[in-house]
Amino acid sequence: MLPVPVVQELILQRVTPLGVEKIHLYDSLGRVLAEAIVTPDPIPAWDNSAMDGYAVALGDWQLTPEPVLTILEELPAGKIPQKPLQPGFCSRVMTGALLPEGTEAVVMQEQAEVLGGDRVQLRGYPRSGQFMRKRGEFRSSGETLITQGTAITPAEIGILASLNKLQVPVYRQPLVAILSTGDELVPLGVDPRSGQVLDSNQPTLMALVRQCGGIPKAMGIVRDTPEALITLLGQCADADFILSSGGVSVGTYDYVEAVLERLGAEVLVRQVNMKPGKPLTFAQWGQTLYWGLPGNPVSSFVGFWLMVYPALRKAAGHPHDWLPKEMTAVTTAALKSGGDRRHYLRGRLTWQDGYHFEPFGLDNSGNFANLSQVNAFAVLESGQTRVAAGCEVRVVVL
Ligand code: AMP
Ligand code: MG
Repeated sequence: MLPVPVVQELILQRVTPLGVEKIHLYDSLGRVLAEAIVTPDPIPAWDNSAMDGYAVALGDWQLTPEPVLTILEELPAGKIPQKPLQPGFCSRVMTGALLPEGTEAVVMQEQAEVLGGDRVQLRGYPRSGQFMRKRGEFRSSGETLITQGTAITPAEIGILASLNKLQVPVYRQPLVAILSTGDELVPLGVDPRSGQVLDSNQPTLMALVRQCGGIPKAMGIVRDTPEALITLLGQCADADFILSSGGVSVGTYDYVEAVLERLGAEVLVRQVNMKPGKPLTFAQWGQTLYWGLPGNPVSSFVGFWLMVYPALRKAAGHPHDWLPKEMTAVTTAALKSGGDRRHYLRGRLTWQDGYHFEPFGLDNSGNFANLSQVNAFAVLESGQTRVAAGCEVRVVVL
C-alpha cells in the first residue's frame, strides 16, 4: 500500500506535456500556451491621448494666466494629425487619438472653456507630458507579454487579440478513453432490474475529464471477463490516457491488473494508502497511461481528483501546480476516521471571515447521493481518528 504523495509523484514522472497545435483565438479559452507571446511593436505603438481634451506644446504662453489658444484641428481616435503644434496653438483630441507633432501635454477638457470660434481658454498650467500615453510607455518591442505555460483566460484573449494573433500555439488536450467494468452495469436509458446498476461513473468521469481540460471518449461498459476487457482496450489505441472503473479489488471478478499484465503493461501501483479508494491500479501500457479506478462512485471520484487530475494538468502543459491545491480550514462539524488509512472526507468549503469546511456526513464510499456541490476533501492522516468541530483541518480544494 503506497502513500498518496508517493503515488502522485510516480504518476507525474510518467507524464510529459503533449504536442503543440495551433488553434483559433476564439477557441483558446482555458487552453495552455505552448510559446511565450512577445510583442513585435512597442505598446502603445504611438503617442496618444489619455483624455478628451487639448494637445498643447509648452512655451511662453503659459506665463499668461488663463491663456487663450487657437484650435488647429479636431482629432478623434483614428484620425491622422495634419498640423504640427506651435506655442499658442492646440488641437482638440479625444481619448486614444494620435497626438500631433510637437505635443508636450494634454489638457483635459474639464480644464478648458471653449470661447467660441476656434478659441479655447485653459485653466491652470499643464505639466510636461501630462495625460499623454507615450509610445513604448507600457512595453518595449520584443518584451514578453504572456509566458509559456499560461492558462488562457479572457485577459490573455484580449492581449492576443491586441497583437492580431488569430492562431494561438497551445498544448494538445489529452484524449482520455473512459470505460466501466461490471456485469451488473447497464447504460443510461435502460430500466435496471433489481440488482442491476446504472453506469453513473462513466458520465461522471467524462465530466471530470472535460472540466479538467481533457477530451473524454466514452468507451461503454465491459463485461466481467478478461477477454471483453482485452477487446475493448484494443479500441483505445488512440487515447493518451485510459480510465476504467471497477474490477480493481480482490474479488473474483477483479481482473483488471491481470489483464494489464497479460498485455505487457507495466503495473506501477496496485494499492494506495487512502480511504476511499485503496484499490487503485496505475500502469503504463506502451505510450498510454492506464488508471484502474475503484468501482464505488465516491471512490472513483476521489481517486480521479488525487491521481488523474494532476496528470491531466501536466499533460495539458501546465508548468507546475499539478496537484490539487491544499489549504487549512475550520471544520463546522466533528470529523471522524477509522485511522487506518489517510482519509478524504467530502464536503463544502466556504468563505466567511475565513475558510470553513462543512462535511457532508454519512461517510460511505457507496453513497454518491450527498456529493452534490462537493468542492473539497478534508484530510485526516493515518492514525488521526477525530477532528473536533471548530478546529483546523487540512483540505484539498477541487
Ligand atoms: P467493483 O470495484 O467493481 O467491485 O465495484 C464496487 C461497487 O461499485 C459495486 O457496488 C458496483 O456495482 C459499483 N460500481 C462499479 N462500477 C460502477 C459504475 N460504472 N457506476 C456505478 N456504480 C458502479
Ligand atoms: Mg465490478
